[in-house]
Formats: sequence, C-alpha cells, structure tokens
Amino acid sequence: MATLAFIGVGNMGGPMSANLVRAGHTVMAFDLSPENLNTAVEAGCSATASVAEAVGDAEAVFTMLPAGKHVDAVYNGDAGIMANARPGALFVDCSTIDVETARAIIKTAEDGGFRMVDCPVSGGVTGAAAGTLAMMCGGSDNAFEAARPYLEILGKTVVHAGGPGAGQAAKTCNNMILGISMIGVCEAFMLAEKLDLDLDKLFSIAANASGQCWALTSYCPVPGPVPASPANRDYKPGFTAANMLKDLKLAQQAARSSGASTPLGSNAATLYDQFVEAGNGEVDFSGIIRMIAGQGKSG
Ligand code: NAD
Repeated sequence: MATLAFIGVGNMGGPMSANLVRAGHTVMAFDLSPENLNTAVEAGCSATASVAEAVGDAEAVFTMLPAGKHVDAVYNGDAGIMANARPGALFVDCSTIDVETARAIIKTAEDGGFRMVDCPVSGGVTGAAAGTLAMMCGGSDNAFEAARPYLEILGKTVVHAGGPGAGQAAKTCNNMILGISMIGVCEAFMLAEKLDLDLDKLFSIAANASGQCWALTSYCPVPGPVPASPANRDYKPGFTAANMLKDLKLAQQAARSSGASTPLGSNAATLYDQFVEAGNGEVDFSGIIRMIAGQGKSG
C-alpha cells in the first residue's frame, strides 16, 4: 500500500480521497478550507498544514481543484507540488481545466523528472462517493500505467484518451455535446407544448426515434417521463448550471485556440450565461427549460 497526497478535498476530492483510504492507502490531505480538511480526516485521511507537507513522502499526488489558475499555482508555486515532491513522483490532476494549462503543467512536470496525467472525471458527487466515476486520462503510456491502479479505485470506467491534455479535451467535447443536446431537448418539449402535443407522447416517441439522446432518456428536463431526473425535484442538482457554464466556457476557449468552428457550442454558452446571471447558478442545468419556456411568445 502506498503513501499518497490529496490536495483539494472538497465536494469531489473529499469522497475520492476517502475511497483511496478505504482501499488501504495512506492519504496525506491538504485543503485551504479547514472544514473540508476535517471531513477528509473523519474519512481516514491525515491532515497536513501545507502542500509541501502533504507531498513530501508521497509516491503519487492527486489534485482536485476548482480551475486552471488554482492547479497552476498548486503545481508550479514556490511552495507547490513540484518544489516539494519526491523525485520521480506521479501526479494525477483530476480537476476540470483548460487543455492548454493541462499540457503546460505536464510538460513542466516531465521536464522535472516527474510523471503526470490529466484525468478529469464525470459522474458528480454521487459517482465520486460510489467510486463509479468515468475517468478520462491524458498522458504518456508510462504515466497512465502508473496511475491506472489508483484510477480503478476511483472510477468504473478508465480510458486512456491519448497524450497530455487528451483527458481535458475529451471532457470538454463531451460536455459541449451535453450542453447543446440539453438545450435542444428543452426547445423540443417547449415547441411540443405550443403545438398541443402531449409531452409523455413526445418522450415515448423521441426516446425510440432519431431524437434519442442522454439528455432526453436519462435526464429528461420535464417532470414525469424519467423519475430520477432533477425535473422531478424542482431542479435540485445533480449537475449545476454554474458547472455547465464553466465547462462550456472551457470548450469555447479550446475552440478559439484551436480554430474549431462551434456555433452551437457558442450559443449554448451564451444561454447558460444568461441563465446563471439570472441567479440560477446552483439550479440543475436541466432547469434551463424554465428560461427557454419564459422566452416563448403566446401563440
Ligand atoms: P469544491 O469547491 O467543492 O472543491 C475544491 C476544493 O479545493 C475546495 O475544498 C477548496 O478549498 C480547495 N482549494 C482551492 N484552492 C486550493 C489551494 N490552493 N490549495 C488547497 N486547496 C485548495 O469543488 P468540486 O465540486 O469538488 O470540484 C472540483 C473540480 O472537479 C472542479 O474542477 C470541477 O469542475 C470538477 N468536477 C466537479 C463535479 C461536481 O459535480 N461537483 C463533477 C465533475 C468534475
């Protein structure tokens, strides 16, 4: 069993670090939030007072931080991971960040003699607690094989997507599909209502026709057809609109820097921006159907 470090034990990192403890590893945890650190300690992690203390003896270092600027500071800062980790240590960044920052940090890590993968996840807090996350991993074969035994504790699907940054690229493309398709499903249900088409009938037809997609059949934005969807509990998340907006903005950043054309991704980002700006950041992302319904005219 290994000594590991876990930096960022919030909503996602907390249950993920607990699963590493449950698997028998020693986990040295650090977080700027004393409350989150305490919760990790209650789950069996050892509290540390700094990044340096957490990573000093660790074979592998995990990070689960809000955004690229936090990840960059925690890896590259004077008191950060690279300045204090054991030679040759393995780094696994599970945060959702932009592809360029992920690639730059992995390059610096490899130049310093470390191994590193970017490994954003999908599956939310429930998947983190159950150890059933989808793990999308980018990095060298060597770094991926070193990370794989730990990733298999944290997730049920572990995919080596390609070289450095490929995990972030996969996550940004996947979530752009999700944001666009959720808006498409919402628009179709609101159009159906205007056309006096029964919404349950639309669901049962589209779910078995070419309109079928995850946003419809697993996460239907109107109450009724899919009992587990947030629409049945007043759009309590689930996956917040603020997180969807963050991911759509990352997709737009990637589209700009790579020269890809993503007109619907751009529109989806604008619509989620309006929804979040109107005070709905903590509402489930499928709740955008209310905004779309409100924008319609009476026929
Ligand atoms: P969170 O805010 O609950 O946790 C982040 C933690 O990082 C906090 O505890 C914060 O105190 C800590 N932190 C910030 N800066 C730090 C620093 N410099 N040093 C040490 N600790 C620091 O956020 P979360 O929901 O756990 O999300 C983390 C990442 O996972 C994000 O990139 C998010 O996009 C991604 N993600 C979240 C979900 C979800 O459903 N919440 C799903 C998939 C991916």
